[in-house]
Amino acid sequence: MTGMLIAGERTEGAAGEGLDVVDPATEETIESVPRGTAADVDAAVEAAHRAFGEWQKTDAEDRAKLLRAAIALIERDRKDLTMSLVHEQGKPVTEAAGEIHHLVHGLNFYADLATKVRGSYQPLPSALSKAYGMVIRRPMGVVAAIVPNNFPLTLLGTKLAPALMAGNTIVVKPAATTPLTTLKIADLFQEAGFPAGVVNVITGKGSEVGDALVTHDKVRRVAFTGSTAVGRHIMGLAAPKLKRMTMELGGSDPVIVAPDANIKAAARGIAIGRFWNCGQMCLGGKRVYVFDEVYDELLEQLTRTVGKYEPGLGWEKAEKPAIRVGPLHTSDGRDELMEQLQDALDGGGELVLGGDKPDTAGYFMNPTIVTNPALDSRVAHEETFGPVLPIWRVSDLDEAIGLANDSEYGLGASVWTNDVRMIHRVANEVDAGMKWVNQFHYGYDELPFGGVKQSGYGKEHGVEGLDYYLEDISVVVGGLE
Ligand code: NAP
Ligand code: MG
Repeated sequence: MTGMLIAGERTEGAAGEGLDVVDPATEETIESVPRGTAADVDAAVEAAHRAFGEWQKTDAEDRAKLLRAAIALIERDRKDLTMSLVHEQGKPVTEAAGEIHHLVHGLNFYADLATKVRGSYQPLPSALSKAYGMVIRRPMGVVAAIVPNNFPLTLLGTKLAPALMAGNTIVVKPAATTPLTTLKIADLFQEAGFPAGVVNVITGKGSEVGDALVTHDKVRRVAFTGSTAVGRHIMGLAAPKLKRMTMELGGSDPVIVAPDANIKAAARGIAIGRFWNCGQMCLGGKRVYVFDEVYDELLEQLTRTVGKYEPGLGWEKAEKPAIRVGPLHTSDGRDELMEQLQDALDGGGELVLGGDKPDTAGYFMNPTIVTNPALDSRVAHEETFGPVLPIWRVSDLDEAIGLANDSEYGLGASVWTNDVRMIHRVANEVDAGMKWVNQFHYGYDELPFGGVKQSGYGKEHGVEGLDYYLEDISVVVGGLE
């Protein structure tokens, strides 16, 4: 068993029970971690609270230096971290290496910002006596960071780096199924010289430790990324304690392909936007609406591109022109996706590609394209978290925007066109927090990212991401005469 990290020590926790971590590509147990309890949560939060006393007083420049030292250690161990991520998450080596690259880029972004947190000065009326005002920016204290299983490292970094650079301490709760690489990274933060208790990691099941973490009196701020259902649950728990929260939740991103689009580029973008990470992405092209004029051409291109995806072990390279796609992360996730697909087929959808699973161990599923399922089918309204791409034919932009917005979600959206009026309308009328024109990509470190509607609220990434870890405090300075 590899321990969790509390107050700078790896520990098996109060109960001493373990929880297996399984490789989704082989279904074999690769390691076990402690099954955390409320007592462990309390120990971790208390450690973080104690560490906050001194940590908040450190120079921002010193905090940035420590983060850069941790980044250097991540670079040093890049290969080991990559393989660890491949085995616990299931993603292929190139995708895992890409995730580590993105993590390092994001950590650097906040190391650079640490020394650039600036407050303000305000002259005040002197009716009572001469005085001026300052707005100073303070860290909050203990942050609880709850991370999902699809991008365990980048979504750790988007919380860890701004929290620490702003002067907070942190208790991280990785997904029960992806704790291993997170623990390795936390060790590297210790090795880099972060004081004990500044970074803590609690392992175990969210359903068992989540409530204790979210409601702990000494947790000031909850940074959650995960499904809308769990987000709603923890927001309810945290409400009586008025915790500061960010909610990065589920999505069902629409993609609109207009008649003037570069169809080859659109097909490529949509394939990556849907099948990267075996389709387990928050930002993912989950509903494609194609104008009549280019529907056949796009479908043909997409079918050809997606036909190249080959499910297999993440650590084995696919032979060109095949493209490796890993397994689903859990068997439950695959079951649910198969049910959503069946519902689409029952509702008149036509299966163009895939639809089944390979006859091997591992939670694999063949990349799937389904066309024109009923507009009230589950794939049109629920999040599909895996390699299933539904495509609909539309006749104009009004219809496309109407369907795009007929969803409770509002995370991302993409439009493929060079028509400036269409771009203007999608930018202003589609409900989504992140939009791309002639692109489909992940969240950029440089831009604030977060959803609207049931995809949540608050921002990660960007300068704005740091704001969510600071409190503005007004200070009036009198006695000047
Ligand atoms: P999930 O099931 O909602 O779990 C997310 C995290 O919450 C995990 O660490 C989970 O722990 C924990 N959790 C579960 N129950 C909890 C409780 N009662 N209290 C506190 N924490 C609890 O999500 P997932 O399956 O890992 O990830 C997929 C979802 O995340 C998708 O909906 C996806 O769209 C969304 N996502 C959103 C973004 C974004 O930025 N908007 C990014 C990535 C993913 P356990 O693993 O132990 O259950
Ligand atoms: Mg889940």
